[in-house]
Amino acid sequence: MEKTGIIKKMRTELPETGKEALYYLPLDEQEIDLNDFIGHNIRITFRHEIHCIHCGRLIKKTYAQGYCYPCFISLPETDVCILRPELCQAHLGISRDMAWSKEHCLQDHFVYLALTSGLKVGVTRKTQVSTRWIDQGADQAIRIAKTPNRHLAGEIEVILKKYMNDKTNWRQMLKGSNPGNHNLVAEMEKALALLPESYRQYFFEEDQITHIRYPVLSWPEKIKTVSLDKQDRIEARLTGIKGQYLLFEDGEVLNIRKHGGYVITLSTL
Ligand SMILES: [Zn+2]
Repeated sequence: MEKTGIIKKMRTELPETGKEALYYLPLDEQEIDLNDFIGHNIRITFRHEIHCIHCGRLIKKTYAQGYCYPCFISLPETDVCILRPELCQAHLGISRDMAWSKEHCLQDHFVYLALTSGLKVGVTRKTQVSTRWIDQGADQAIRIAKTPNRHLAGEIEVILKKYMNDKTNWRQMLKGSNPGNHNLVAEMEKALALLPESYRQYFFEEDQITHIRYPVLSWPEKIKTVSLDKQDRIEARLTGIKGQYLLFEDGEVLNIRKHGGYVITLSTL
């Protein structure tokens, strides 16, 4: 097989809790089922061409993992509230694009706890939960609050960030599934106890933990990041996928999301 196209972040699916995550690589109009390639030698060749993943224009470098500069400074999907939900102002009628915000910010959101490289708190839109957890390489996750918009979920996250991480140590995350000895149901109870009374109406006290397995044959001991800016060809045995990273036999890892907009040729050898 050999296919060429513009890469976007991998689409993921979790068939059900406890099952292995499924990964699909969008390459132009096609989608490649990457789980099939694990254990096989593959080659990724960068075509020295990058296009904005929104407007398609040819660019030299990307902003916010795939956008051209004009799109980066004007689109709602690259606005500050994406990384910092507490700054979302859509509930006040303020947004770069209210139609977009109605679909994305003024919808039910969840605050969750996840075990990635350790215990972390995060926020995601209701329909995106398992996608978000897989993108972050979470081994387990639980929803702890449900809010009618993004801003409120962000406020809850800000309070909990004082007590726990909101970032993932991705190197640690790629070394296996060893997020320490946390019981997520107990952590949920602790977290909810930290929130002011006014947030009680949003508590989501369901004790269902989602477990996620990743299609990984062997975990790397040493991790070496590969960037298509520095090396236009990767040729190695694909040993697994976790988060948005492809793992190769020699410990090389490629962050697919970071290369959104790059034109590549993917070949099986
Ligand atoms: Zn653009």
